[in-house]
Amino acid sequence: MSEPAVEAKVEVKQASKEVKESENAAEKFSAMTVSKNSEMNMGELSSVFSAVPTHKPVKKQIQFVEEKQEFSRFPTKTGRRSLSRSISQSSTDSYSSAASYTDSSDDETSPRDKTQINSKGSSDFCVKNIKQNEFGRREIEIAEQDMSALISLRKRAQSEKPLAGAKIVGCTHITAQTAVLIETLVALGAQCRWTACNIYSTQNEVAAALSETGVAVFAWKGESEDDFWWCIDRCVNTEGWQPNMILDDGGDLTHWVYKKYPNVFKKIRGIVEESVTGVHRLYQLSKAGKLCVPAMNVNDSVTKQKFDNLYCCRESILDGLKRTTDVMFGGKQVVVCGYGEVGKGCCAALKALGAIVYVTEIDPICALQACMDGFRVVKLNEVIRQVDVIITCTGNKNVVTRDQLDRMKNGSIVCNMGHSNTEIDVASLRTPELTWERVRSQVDHVIWPDGKRVILLAEGRLLNLSCSTVPTFVLSITATTQALALIELYNAPEGRYKQDVYLLPKKMDEYVASLHLTTFDAHLTELTDEQAKYLGLNKNGPFKPNYYRY
Ligand code: NAD
Repeated sequence: MSEPAVEAKVEVKQASKEVKESENAAEKFSAMTVSKNSEMNMGELSSVFSAVPTHKPVKKQIQFVEEKQEFSRFPTKTGRRSLSRSISQSSTDSYSSAASYTDSSDDETSPRDKTQINSKGSSDFCVKNIKQNEFGRREIEIAEQDMSALISLRKRAQSEKPLAGAKIVGCTHITAQTAVLIETLVALGAQCRWTACNIYSTQNEVAAALSETGVAVFAWKGESEDDFWWCIDRCVNTEGWQPNMILDDGGDLTHWVYKKYPNVFKKIRGIVEESVTGVHRLYQLSKAGKLCVPAMNVNDSVTKQKFDNLYCCRESILDGLKRTTDVMFGGKQVVVCGYGEVGKGCCAALKALGAIVYVTEIDPICALQACMDGFRVVKLNEVIRQVDVIITCTGNKNVVTRDQLDRMKNGSIVCNMGHSNTEIDVASLRTPELTWERVRSQVDHVIWPDGKRVILLAEGRLLNLSCSTVPTFVLSITATTQALALIELYNAPEGRYKQDVYLLPKKMDEYVASLHLTTFDAHLTELTDEQAKYLGLNKNGPFKPNYYRY
């Protein structure tokens, strides 16, 4: 991951400035306890954020020649590759969300070729089938049940309408959970136009439900690449409506606006970006002096990192493996490559089911952690012939090579939980002597000439995003962080944020966490005055220094 590398370059002088600023923000909360946080109004919320730039602001603006994009009038199912750049990995990693009530695969007509109107007479949307909206509404209601923190934020801020006048263009997965976020933004006063960041992940009925309530959604499951960019364009390029905020997941929307409509940035107050990829692109823009608005890096907030990486993977690794292979884990030998957040989550889940877990690591600190947690740390080559399952979680490339795949035993399973599809050298398996047999959706048997089969899941792409669901509660944490980041950037007084990438201050992370504690009826201990003085803390947080690792 590149962001920490960028952070590492921050000058000591800059770092001390950050701490000071963040203390200032915390002081503004001196009157509040965590339980009183629930009474926070939006003005106070806004002041929670203090500028925490990760490097020096830059002033230059990106200049793109405005080009007119020609879209295919009759899109093919596979789409066209003639676009200016290929879509990001995150837009093609498939992502399966909650089960759909409606499978519209029988209807082959492209939504672009259909005329649809919602019950209010609007046709400003493009979804698979607007008539599916009632099914979508049920999906959204189910998601709301496990997103109570976001719903409570919605209720608390509804009267103040902190997003009144905000015109948010969003590009995220369009699922029931995102719908809860979008409807929260609308309840807080925003107008939203939305498109999908992934060509496979849209829940069609949810897109229909949003369109029925007046959100202009342009997305459907199984878009071609041409459709993908067309949908983004329809969100941005519309008469009489110009966005002033961007919520992006993967950076494709931001890239499109920069490339095609740079003038739109004159009105944009900020970008909120969720993904590793998108944040990386923002840092690159900033480094090149081409970022012309403030951006919030939600990806690196503590609540995102810890919950999305550790707990989400702990919950979804077994689900993904079981749905695809029906494997039993008790007594199975599993090797997990990488003992970072994702690896720790996977190992914990596998150990709990009685698997014998080995870990490979390059970093002695993580390796020692694995040892202390009771795992054998090995080189992959030492166990390659005996393991039943290999799971990669490194964010690195070629962690499992063809040579190693050649030596695996018959019936072993190979899958990836790390970034994109680079960790397992899948390309090396596409040689004439090996036969590929698709046995289920996302499950391939790769067959060697001697009859040996290796079971490859999701073609080496992220297993949980491709083959299982992601827990709604985890998405609630991310969505709440995104909503707060949007509120802050939209309401921030001029000058608070420059043309740079900002991290959420720790106080804000603590607030997101405290909102979610209610779900568990968890009761926080409050510091006494004496204890606060002894520890040198404000009674209302932040409770840890910025360098604290959790
Ligand atoms: P991390 O940096 O905390 O952990 C990765 C670990 O892999 C590190 O400890 C590193 O030392 C180790 N490593 C690197 N190269 C290795 C090699 N060749 N062999 C063995 N170990 C090696 O990162 P993380 O938060 O655990 O994320 C890992 C990857 O998972 C990232 O690519 C991230 O984008 C992705 N991710 C996936 C999900 C998901 O839902 N599947 C969620 C979050 C993050």
